Amino acid sequence: MIALLSGGVGGSRLAAGLYDLLGERLVVIVNTADDEVIYGLYVSPDVDTVLYTLSGIGDWERGWGIRGDTFSCNETIGRLGFENWFRIGDMDLAVNLLRTMMLSEGRSLSHVTEELARRMGLKCKVLPMTDHRVVTQVVTPEGPMSFQEYFVKREAKPEVLEIRRVRSPHERPAPGVIESLNSARAILFAPSNPILSVRPILETNGVEEAIRGSRAVNVAISPLVGGRALRGPADRLLRSFGYQSGVIGVAQFYDGLIDGLVIDRADADHEQVIRSKFGIEVLVTETVMTSRGAAKRLASEVLDFAARLGRVRD
Ligand code: GDP
Ligand code: CA
Repeated sequence: MIALLSGGVGGSRLAAGLYDLLGERLVVIVNTADDEVIYGLYVSPDVDTVLYTLSGIGDWERGWGIRGDTFSCNETIGRLGFENWFRIGDMDLAVNLLRTMMLSEGRSLSHVTEELARRMGLKCKVLPMTDHRVVTQVVTPEGPMSFQEYFVKREAKPEVLEIRRVRSPHERPAPGVIESLNSARAILFAPSNPILSVRPILETNGVEEAIRGSRAVNVAISPLVGGRALRGPADRLLRSFGYQSGVIGVAQFYDGLIDGLVIDRADADHEQVIRSKFGIEVLVTETVMTSRGAAKRLASEVLDFAARLGRVRD
């Protein structure tokens, strides 16, 4: 079994490639720190991006929502004079209505996610990192704002001074998360935003300890290509939070947690430094997943790399 820690767009792309190779032997553990209640609906953007992308109904290019979706509801909300910057498509809305309905009936987020995954025909496990609500607030020079206000309304443009996360002291990882980490042959860190997507998973009570204690081979895939995020603020945020710029900052972020790092050809210059300075093995390859086929090819290289590292370590 292979476990993948994932955010939305970068994570779901690699997840799809892995799924095509592994099927039910894949477990995806997904960030829920971006979840928000919008129009009374419980929206879990990274979970949905993973569900949609794996099941093939996602919009690969856009990286969120359902392919071919329409936005009548969203436009109507705007015409009625309400804020509609958080765009939920009409088909996407159906999923969010059903999630909210099931949650209001008292079912857990992991239950609901399992149900949705099953109905979308998925064979692998998709687990939210926790069933407890995590609320993220971003402090900017303009003041504090909700995560989606920062990320969607303000397009992640403001400088980030601080990220505040309100988490329950009773928080536990969702059922299956620790078990998967304990039994995984490899634990993979998707090319997701380290600060916004990966860190909240690691900060879920017991997750980082489980990863450190596991016998798995741990491999991260850099979300930066040529030192820059393909989209979103990953490069800027790593620097704001004290990491060096470019892939060296990614290596620094994962230092002590991983055996191997996969970097893009555009960053090949840094290969030796990452090896010598951090003692991390490096695979240099094409990491931009322009299609599901490209994702499958990268996933296959990542699995081969992890298997090689496993043998080296044994
Ligand atoms: P979000 O939750 O939708 O913001 O998505 P993630 O946190 O999973 O991923 C965001 C990161 O994915 C960005 O830093 C992108 O650079 C990275 N990313 C997106 N597509 C790709 C890709 O095809 N290859 C790589 N290496 N990174 C990608
Ligand atoms: Ca996200």
